Amino acid sequence: MKVARQRATCHFCQQPIIKGEYMVVCKWYKKTKNKAKEPQTWSFFKRFHPQCWIDQAVEELKKRPFTESRGRKKLGITDSNRDARMAILRRRASVVQRIRAEAKKPQDEQNFDRIVHLGSLLSDLKVEISPFGGVPKSWG
Ligand SMILES: [Zn+2]
Repeated sequence: MKVARQRATCHFCQQPIIKGEYMVVCKWYKKTKNKAKEPQTWSFFKRFHPQCWIDQAVEELKKRPFTESRGRKKLGITDSNRDARMAILRRRASVVQRIRAEAKKPQDEQNFDRIVHLGSLLSDLKVEISPFGGVPKSWG
């Protein structure tokens, strides 16, 4: 959410968003084909009043109530197991972040042993998380 620097039109209610008001800016992608029938992706911004942004999200969700595409299915595990799962997910996120940081360094500054070590942490976490709702698909 940010403050409107200039007057804009809300994509949802088509009413103006006044300069200085809060607004939500979303990047949208649209796939089309050009004249040569090659796929093309357009990206553009849509601006919403904060409340309109919520309303359009609710409408979108109502349109497709049972197609959770992001793997947010309820796992059917107890609260304490869910906490344990979340803790493992967080630890993995931090390991992934450290690997990315290492990989961003110039080749000759990369610590290969460290990357190998972090990689082995990832496989340990797979083993650790499997009793708590299974290994997430995105972990590969
Ligand atoms: Zn609006």
